[in-house]
Amino acid sequence: MDTHATTPSQALELFSDLGDLTRFEPDGDVSPQHERRDSPALYQSKSLLECITHLQTPKGAKPVLKTMVTTACERNCHYCPFRAGRGKMKRVTFTPDALAGAFDRLQRAKKVDGLFLSSGIIKGSVTTQDKLLDTVEIVRRKYRYRGYVHLKIMPGIERDQLHRAMQIADRVSVNLEAPTQARLDKLAPMKQFMTELLGMLQLADQIRRDNPHQRLASTVTQFVVGAVGDTDLELLALSEKLYANLRLSRVYYSAFHPIEQTPFESLQAVTPLREHRLYQASFLLRDYGFGLEDLSFTGNENLRQDLDPKQAWAEIHLRHAPIDLQTADREQLLRVPHIGTKSADAILDARARHALVDLSQLRALGIKSPHDLAPYILLSGKRPPQQSQLFPEAG
Ligand code: SF4
Repeated sequence: MDTHATTPSQALELFSDLGDLTRFEPDGDVSPQHERRDSPALYQSKSLLECITHLQTPKGAKPVLKTMVTTACERNCHYCPFRAGRGKMKRVTFTPDALAGAFDRLQRAKKVDGLFLSSGIIKGSVTTQDKLLDTVEIVRRKYRYRGYVHLKIMPGIERDQLHRAMQIADRVSVNLEAPTQARLDKLAPMKQFMTELLGMLQLADQIRRDNPHQRLASTVTQFVVGAVGDTDLELLALSEKLYANLRLSRVYYSAFHPIEQTPFESLQAVTPLREHRLYQASFLLRDYGFGLEDLSFTGNENLRQDLDPKQAWAEIHLRHAPIDLQTADREQLLRVPHIGTKSADAILDARARHALVDLSQLRALGIKSPHDLAPYILLSGKRPPQQSQLFPEAG
């Protein structure tokens, strides 16, 4: 039976029952090492604290309330604990007033500073999105909250709704779930890839172009990885296009975990390592000037699991043609394993003042294990000493 919360007090009580309901949602974290690494969801938690997630938002580290307008849903995505007809799922629905009021109390008590709001779909996407929008409008107008809000976009909503969501939230997410319609048919048979999902991301980009002077939310998406034969190549090929053409700020990859009493309950869970490698490759595409052609895929079109993708590239391209840190441009520096954007800038700054001739100088520039770079670099024209056996030859 559904439980409804119509007052902030009732909503606060229900949060304790909801616990970590939205743990499969992208939560706005900014670096792959902060992605979830815990065990499959149980959805049975009983603590208010489990609704509150500590995450890195674009506005810094914050305790964020992650919750849903309703845990009921009329759709039947095969992987989802909220799918229609799943008896094990407790169905809870909040009115916008109750949810906004409960958030306000938690925020004033300094238990949270940020809201992540999602929902199951009831009476269609448009009606559901209105409830999410109403909740955030109350949070912004009545309670005058100016902090971080991440709002989920329902499939196939109207342009005005999407535009309003982008005006009142800091981040909006449209979860593609799968890289093609054929894969999506197997994951979420009632969802339409182009019209309901990719179309929303295209519309968000168009709204951004049409309103260059408005402060609008950034856009992210998420894929469910590995339940229906999707390959890393498919996922990353689409990610590259999303970054380049639709200016997404982040693509999330959620390793599939089977949920009991769903059609996928007996499928195997996907390893966290696959998810981790996807994040590493995705950051190379977004921030390091890499293209899809720079990534090493195995015969089954998945990334190599034994090496991080940047090192896999360096083994092929840099071991026999090392990059001189004294003369390389920033783009070249970013190709070297263990050199990130900050350390590349630190190298450019330091070498303008003095020559880089010794690995020990790199430690002072924020590179924790300079010996790990040794096989791929020169220092002022000379190869630095290498520790033997550290790097097995790439297979
Ligand atoms: S539409 Fe969303 S909440 Fe509903 S079954 Fe699909 S993934 Fe779950």
